[in-house]
Amino acid sequence: MDEENKKFELAGKTFHEGDPISIDGTTGNIYDGIIPTVDAQIAGDFDRIMNWADKYRTLKVRTNADTPADAKKARELGAEGIGLCRTEHMFFEESRIAAFREMICSDTVEEREAALEKILPMQQADFEALYEALEGNPVTIRFLDPPLHEFVPTEEDDIKKLADAQGKSVEDIKNIIASLHEFNPMMGHRGCRLAVTYPEIAKMQTRAVIRAAINVQKAHADWNVVPEIMIPLVGEVKELKYVKDVVVAAADEEIKAAGVELKYEVGTMIEIPRAALTADEIAKEAEFFCFGTNDLTQMTFGFSRDDAGKFLGAYYDKKIFENDPFAKLDQIGVGKLMEMAVKMGKSVRPDMHLGICGEHGGDPTSVEFCHKIGLSYVSCSPFRVPIARLAAAQAAINEKK
Ligand code: PEP
Ligand code: MG
Repeated sequence: MDEENKKFELAGKTFHEGDPISIDGTTGNIYDGIIPTVDAQIAGDFDRIMNWADKYRTLKVRTNADTPADAKKARELGAEGIGLCRTEHMFFEESRIAAFREMICSDTVEEREAALEKILPMQQADFEALYEALEGNPVTIRFLDPPLHEFVPTEEDDIKKLADAQGKSVEDIKNIIASLHEFNPMMGHRGCRLAVTYPEIAKMQTRAVIRAAINVQKAHADWNVVPEIMIPLVGEVKELKYVKDVVVAAADEEIKAAGVELKYEVGTMIEIPRAALTADEIAKEAEFFCFGTNDLTQMTFGFSRDDAGKFLGAYYDKKIFENDPFAKLDQIGVGKLMEMAVKMGKSVRPDMHLGICGEHGGDPTSVEFCHKIGLSYVSCSPFRVPIARLAAAQAAINEKK
């Protein structure tokens, strides 16, 4: 690999920047040129096995999807709902990031609200498309979660554009960006803390969800659209209550203004150990729980999911760990917290639905564990849906043995 001259040699041929190659994602083999591919689909014997699996499993399988295209693919692969829509992912596109940045770089509530007004129709349209793709099946929409500095511009040109759009100086914008810096962003100003500091964000997202649900319900009288609003990174019931109050007020106002009846649920992710430890308290406010085992793993072990790759190799070599705990659920530690939270949650709200939407939701042994502790569903990325369906069936069959 000659990085400097942007070329590499393989099997006697020199490839230059821009030359097409194909990579087999399973074997890692590299092929010259573009190999034609077909979309993954369930048919023939595969379909037969999947149907058998569905006959036996009791655990539902949802998907993590943020776009209608992903949601449709997951439906084709058998997903029975969306367990996690990460709303921040809807703003990565060039055409949308500008309004999002204006929201972040606002100095006053009024400025922020003006930017949020621009964002609202985009979110509403996205949610409508998701509800349409899911055809009346459940859709859990998670409110804004990541630290805001992840979205701010870094290029001079973009900073200038943002300054002009907001009538601010480049220096003002740079100061705001600098003020967003955090030493440990994963444990910083993110998750429901954003909604506590800026309730207007949660208000806008609620409006978008409820308006979308009302429209889609109107268009499909035979569907039962019940929005599930999920508040991330809760560790204390009072913060959940604060955000839930904001959500309920905005939702009820929308429903009343539309003159319709609409049921909706407000739940939370269980992804901070304190939320699991106080799940009985949290369940007084949360109508459902969904385990965010990516964060729950990171916070239970106390190491960052983004940095663990640097030292996990040594842990495998020294036989301290057998697996990556971010891929395969640590049933002994993280699992214990989940099991406790399920019991405590159900003791307060016996009919609450419980799911998992961390990466573990598509890992077979983790799926089996979720079945054992009594979760209602696992949620995983679209292409892992079939494996989750199969693992859920195997768990149900193993239990009967
Ligand atoms: C999680 O923490 O498990 C989760 C699903 O949320 P995110 O990965 O977006 O933090
Ligand atoms: Mg998380």
